Formats: sequence, C-alpha cells, structure tokens
Amino acid sequence: MNKIIKPQVSRREALRLVGAGGLALAGMSQLSPNTLGQSAATTRAESFGSYRVKLGDFELYALYEGTVTFPIQAYGINVPVSRIGQLLTDNFLPAGATVSQPLNCLLIKTPQGNVLVDAGTGGKAGVADGGRLLGNLAAIGIKPSDINHVIISHLHPDHVGGIFEGGAAVVSNQLVFKNAEHIIAKREWDTIDNPIAGAPPKPAAVQAFFETSLKSAKAALTGKVKFVSNGDQILPGIEIISTPGHTAGHIAIKISSGNQQLIHLVDSVTHHVLGFAQDLRLLFDEDGATASATRARILDQVASDRTLVMGYHFPWPGLAHIRKISTGYEWVPTVWDWAAQK
Ligand SMILES: [Zn+2]
Repeated sequence: MNKIIKPQVSRREALRLVGAGGLALAGMSQLSPNTLGQSAATTRAESFGSYRVKLGDFELYALYEGTVTFPIQAYGINVPVSRIGQLLTDNFLPAGATVSQPLNCLLIKTPQGNVLVDAGTGGKAGVADGGRLLGNLAAIGIKPSDINHVIISHLHPDHVGGIFEGGAAVVSNQLVFKNAEHIIAKREWDTIDNPIAGAPPKPAAVQAFFETSLKSAKAALTGKVKFVSNGDQILPGIEIISTPGHTAGHIAIKISSGNQQLIHLVDSVTHHVLGFAQDLRLLFDEDGATASATRARILDQVASDRTLVMGYHFPWPGLAHIRKISTGYEWVPTVWDWAAQK
C-alpha cells in the first residue's frame, strides 16, 4: 500500500512547495521522502479502491473497477466534435481525442444481505483497465460467495463482463458470484434475442465484447435470472426504477434506509458534464430519444428532491448532488468523508 501513497517529491522540492519562509519549515528537518511515505498502519481508507457511505442501517461501498476510454465523438454523434470539446473545456476537463471515465460498482450491505450493483468488465477486453472489483471487495472483507444479490442494470459489457468467468472472447456459462440471485429487467433480458432496431452501431473495437457478453448472459443465466420491473423491491429499501433509453430495459436503483436516500443513476446519466447537455446524442444510448426523455425526467426529480446520487461513470467515487442551473444542470460532487472510511 505504501506504493500508492509514496510521494514523488524530493526534500528540496518539498521545501520549495512549502516556501522559503513557510510555516512548516521548522518541522521539515525531520521529514525525508521516506518518512513522508511511511505512515504507521495502512488502513482501508488508504487503499482508495473503495469508498464507504453510511445510509441509515445500510453500509454502501463504491468500488473502483477500472477506467474506460472512448473516442470523444461517442459522446455526441449528432454534433460537431468542437461542441463536445467546448463543453469539456468550459468545465475544466481535457478536450482531447478521447474521454476516460471510471467504472464505479456499488455494494450495499444490508441487514438482509449483500447486494452488488453491476460488476464492471472483469478485466476483459481492451476498452478498459478493469478487473479490480474482486480485489477491492476482498480489501473490505467480502468474497464473491458473500454476495447474495447481483443487480444487472443493463447488459452492456462494462457492467456485466465481471459476472462471468473466462475471458472476453469466451462465451461463459460460469458465474463469478455463485451464491447470488441475479436480477435484471425482463425488458432488458428480451433484448438478447431482440435488440433495439436503429441503435447506433458500436465501435469495431468493442463490438465482439458486446456480443460475447450477451451470449454469456444467455448461457449462464437462462432459467436462473429473476426478472424485475419498475417499483419492485429487491430487499426492503432497495427499489427498481425503470430508466429506459440507454438500453431498452435499463434500470436505476433507489436505496432508502432510515430517513436517508440515494439514487444510483447508473447509465441513465453517463457523464457528469456531457450527460447534462440535452442536445447531445450519445453513441451508447441505444434509443436516443427515449434516453433523452428519461434523463430529463430523472435529473429534474433528483435536483428538485435534492437527492444524493451515484453515477456508474461519474468521477470516482461517483457520488454527487445535481443542481438545476439556468442552462440545465450542474454536478456537485460530495465532499470526501474521511470519518466514514475508518
Ligand atoms: Zn456503462
């Protein structure tokens, strides 16, 4: 763990940063690059691969799975790249040829059992440096066999790749979370054999991964999956919200305990800036018009209700509030809560 927090700074550089007349100068003589990097015990909070939120009787963990990178044009197939670049620049984000976003899985520990929402790529395929979910679960003491329910928000491979054993090119009938009930919207399941007509074609680099994930879902889950629809409760306090458009049967999750609530938007809003621009049609939204309408509805709801939200691809750890502004919406990230990590 020291590797992660070891400072890449020399003593001379540290002194320069503090400033010649800086207030910390007196204490600096005791500090060397080594002592700066070697705190006593490394705690879970220092691993940075998980982030805990206490929500009533529930303990929620955002779990880092990896980062995906796509061409910038994928974020607005109906507008010039310059429009996307301008939005990024206006929000102090790099406007290069590609856009990178994390994959934020969610574990909900409840008195009735452990619920995992989505499982990342599982390290499969070259679109992501994924595959960190199981390690980050282990770091908080959770084995795959400890997961009681897996909610599959939709069947895109950056969400389901991690529930199947085997590589990206292998159609798998083996599940990673062997004791878990797997949950999906019926409408989403039906797209395995009946995909949305007119969906934008996927980039060639990921086409095979999309297809293999659908085949693996059919091979591993036929007859075993539990179908849900809008308003269904998985456990007390964990409710399905139908949010179609990104895919036909995409679902978001409302999590309530005590008087606290969090809505996991998953991919109903896929980017914390570009996802708020109503004129952009995103390549991975399979039904663009429906995705737009869903986005408008859920953003209005969470902004009006001041609900804590999570986004699967929002900047790590993906937690924020959404504020209505004159031009649309604004992402207000939650302040890192160190006390909740201990
Ligand atoms: Zn996604």
